[in-house]
Amino acid sequence: KLGNETAKAELGRAAWKVLHTTFARFPDKPTQDESEALRSYIHLFQRLYPCGDCASHFGELLKKFPPQVSSRSAAAAWGCHVHNQVNKRLKKDMFDCANIGDFYDCGCAKDEKEEKD
Ligand code: FAD
Repeated sequence: KLGNETAKAELGRAAWKVLHTTFARFPDKPTQDESEALRSYIHLFQRLYPCGDCASHFGELLKKFPPQVSSRSAAAAWGCHVHNQVNKRLKKDMFDCANIGDFYDCGCAKDEKEEKD
């Protein structure tokens, strides 16, 4: 049982990292196609998330708080908010979303136009 809980927590940490890093790298001014891609990604992420009870709780959250895909800052703030909803349910500390700025840096700066080498 402990093993299962540890695996579930590890999966969760990895999943949140991918999600928040994706939002932190989303365009400031996305095209409609990019916004739709992010919306689909989030809904499919929920649908295919390997922990079944997590996925069904997350599905309820997506109904209550539809993904915000209009910009990088909107997506990042939304991700922080829904993660905090999960934190609250699991009785974990709230994360201060004002501090999300550079927290999720994937080291991919080279991809940015202005830093092309
Ligand atoms: P995590 O919650 O995994 O967070 C990892 C790190 O992210 C933290 O250490 C902190 O640095 C940072 N962080 C914390 N809060 C925020 C925030 N709001 N915004 C940005 N960064 C933040 N587990 C269950 O037992 N039951 C569930 O129903 C469940 N549902 C889940 C649904 C989803 C979609 C996901 C991705 C995970 C779910 N989990 C669930 C796993 C759970 O959320 C945690 O990942 C797991 O319990 C490990 O928690 P942790 O304390 O290590 O930190």
